[in-house]
Amino acid sequence: MSIDPAAELPFFYGSISRSEAEQHLKLAGMADGLFLLRQCLRSLGGYVLSIVSNLEFHHYSIEKQLNGTYCITGGKPHCGPAELCEFYSKDSDGLVCTLKKPCLRSPDTPIQPGVFDSLRENMLREYVKQTWNLEGEAMEQAIISQAPQLEKLIATTAHEKMPWYHGKVGRNEGERRLYSGAQPDGKFLVRDREESGTFALSMMYGKTVYHYQILQDKSGKYSMPEGTKFDTIWQLVEYLKMKPDGLMTVLGEACLNGRAVEKTPSLPATVSTGHILTFLSQQIFHCLRFILLSLFQRRTGANGYTPPPRAVPAASTPVAAVPAEREVLPMDCSGFNPYHNPNDVRRFNIQRSQLLMDEVELGSGNFGSVKKGVLKTDSGQIDVAIKVLKSENEKLVKEEMMREAEIMHQLSNPFIVRMLGLCNAENLMLVMEMASAGPLNKFLNSNKDTVTAENIVNLMHQVSMGMKYLEEKNFVHRDLAARNVLLVNQQFAKISDFGLSKALGEDDNYYKARTAGKWPLKWYAPECIIFHKFSSKSDVWSFGITMWEAFSYGGKPYKKMKGPEVIRFIESGSRMDCPAACPERMYELMKECWTYKHEERPDFKKVEESMRFYHYSLSNKVKPEGAAADAEPDK
Ligand code: ADP
Ligand code: MG
Repeated sequence: MSIDPAAELPFFYGSISRSEAEQHLKLAGMADGLFLLRQCLRSLGGYVLSIVSNLEFHHYSIEKQLNGTYCITGGKPHCGPAELCEFYSKDSDGLVCTLKKPCLRSPDTPIQPGVFDSLRENMLREYVKQTWNLEGEAMEQAIISQAPQLEKLIATTAHEKMPWYHGKVGRNEGERRLYSGAQPDGKFLVRDREESGTFALSMMYGKTVYHYQILQDKSGKYSMPEGTKFDTIWQLVEYLKMKPDGLMTVLGEACLNGRAVEKTPSLPATVSTGHILTFLSQQIFHCLRFILLSLFQRRTGANGYTPPPRAVPAASTPVAAVPAEREVLPMDCSGFNPYHNPNDVRRFNIQRSQLLMDEVELGSGNFGSVKKGVLKTDSGQIDVAIKVLKSENEKLVKEEMMREAEIMHQLSNPFIVRMLGLCNAENLMLVMEMASAGPLNKFLNSNKDTVTAENIVNLMHQVSMGMKYLEEKNFVHRDLAARNVLLVNQQFAKISDFGLSKALGEDDNYYKARTAGKWPLKWYAPECIIFHKFSSKSDVWSFGITMWEAFSYGGKPYKKMKGPEVIRFIESGSRMDCPAACPERMYELMKECWTYKHEERPDFKKVEESMRFYHYSLSNKVKPEGAAADAEPDK
């Protein structure tokens, strides 16, 4: 189970409504400063703090920021809900009073699970199992790092599968649909506004249809004009079913779209939050199954092969009924981390006492060595890799390592090795998550018999996703090579070694090195060698070389050629040959990565897309399990 960071707090009630919170506070005596914490229904990962003062109730919402901290609007950020509450128990800092007495949950009041909470575990498991073909521990590891991306995908696209969502439909067509059949007040639908890509809400009131634009602010939150803001469209709609927030009336019956084959029951007029949650859970679960299915279908779209719908137990779902949708694929959701607990990782300063170091050496370099170890945290022990600086290497190397740490600290992506912190003790130590299967080139070289070309495509697709993320964040890696791609396991790759990496300025698109250093020339694009100019496009060149290494199972690029010979070879227009086991499409992509002029070279957005399409087309071709599932069992 992924755990709510507030789950351990005895005054946390989970997803209860405002009036339920007030009921608990009443029962507990209404003392001044009596408080409880509950889940926020509006923002993913947020909370509400409910406090009694002078026999009145006050409710403060706590938002989870994108950087993982929590704050009450206008207040200071805190690293977790517990820390926030502790702070306000000492200092009211703008609240009506300090938090004096926790309103404790009684043993017979379990934490009320949120709509999304109770579903996401299963969804993620199912998804990772199906799409990544992982089981057991490998699956658990993948889930940990995929969860933030997938949760965002599931939450932000859930509306597309709701019975009230009609997709790209104009104002007139929206009206036509609402006027057909019964016309009760509050009957509504949500549609994509054709021109602008924004959403509109159309609803019936007094036999007339009203249209409202759904606003989206810069941070992506949705609201009615001047209304409450929500992370997702479906949360907004659920809220508008309870509160009009500026509309003529609350939302009532959904005007069903063509896809809603199973008629979903509309909510009775008076229901408790408990009912709403149960209803919502059912509805959303149904919708999430749609999402999963459509993900599979989109993958099948690439080569027209549609496997029998065995993947998800949603037999009643019509396979062909998925509307033309925006391109949202599982990994397109960078930079969103609604449930990630920053207390688990991101300890920039690690105490020596929290760290156990093994004698086992994972690798070594000029700087010193990388050792296996264990990091003790509040929530358990984590296997780590520790880059230990040799003690005789002073100042300069130390600064280099600090720079590497600074870069890694800013990165958060499943396909990039995560830094957990720095520990300054007998040596300076950089603590990272462990990628125990080691460097890609070595792994492939010693597992030639068991690793298929498709497996390599999957791994290289992951590398391209990690690189696309770097490109978006304006970082250049400058040392992308198979030796610096580490494997968690045979199906899961992460980019590492940020020793040469640079963060580009906002307006720059390349980094200019003043002097040439100890450079991996065989991985470098011509403009790096000639003009010392490094950009994401030169990382694309290195990606091509890395692909070549991978498809040659850890072979050495440009055989025995020396650096200057390689340069002449490239300048003359020659390129390395296609490795024996390499699919033609992948070799084509490699050659595109080796486009001489960086202006004409594809960027990672393009490279990732090519990798994705090819990867998905393969994984559909080789999975005819449907046949077996359909077969009659032996008698
Ligand atoms: P260098 O800058 O010397 O190339 P790297 O960061 O690439 O340093 O680390 C050197 C070696 O240490 C890697 O090739 C790998 O074998 C091992 N190593 C580094 N980081 C990790 C990690 N997070 N998990 C497992 N092994 C690692
Ligand atoms: Mg390295």
